[in-house]
Amino acid sequence: MKRFILLWAALVLAAVSLAQTSTWGLMQLPYATDALTPVITRRTVELHHGKHLAAYAATLQRLVEGTEYERKSLEYIVRHSTGVIFNNAGQVLNHNLYFEQFSPTGGGQPTGRLAQAIEAQWGSFENFCEEFEKRGTALFGSGWVWLAQNADSTLIILQEPGGGNPIASGRRPILGFDVWEHAYYLDYENRRAEHLHNLWNIIDWQVVGERFR
Ligand code: MN
Repeated sequence: MKRFILLWAALVLAAVSLAQTSTWGLMQLPYATDALTPVITRRTVELHHGKHLAAYAATLQRLVEGTEYERKSLEYIVRHSTGVIFNNAGQVLNHNLYFEQFSPTGGGQPTGRLAQAIEAQWGSFENFCEEFEKRGTALFGSGWVWLAQNADSTLIILQEPGGGNPIASGRRPILGFDVWEHAYYLDYENRRAEHLHNLWNIIDWQVVGERFR
């Protein structure tokens, strides 16, 4: 009986610690590290996910320990924090959305309500892609270009410096391209525009479409 209680206690503790860390832990890639080649090579995925994102997640975990954010969701932390906690929480959230939106069988175009909303805003999917690439290429320094949903359900393209995410301004993130040099420099050197243009070939519009409400 005593052994059973100990085992049960250990299981509960393991479940609790898993629940607490899962929000900020390193997300698992839904594909192999070489699956996005040649758009994003294995070396870049390994560094970007295994080193950069892993470091943001570990740093966030360390920073929130013993603070008011310790048991809050990632989204809550991004909405309410500032400074170094915001930077790391934003980058964890951003990269989770980033890596989840790709697929080796991706590409093509959005369908359904998202496709209609894009056409309503930019006239056509091609016009939207062109504008999105332009905004990402023009963003000075490190940051993100986002397709986001406003409170009134319309769409907007946002340029966010650093680890910025649309949810900090009350919007819903739909699609995000990382324009930090670590996202493309090994594969494309300084050719950011070419990298952004190629990303359309690996977008999983099923995943992206489900973010649109
Ligand atoms: Mn990145």
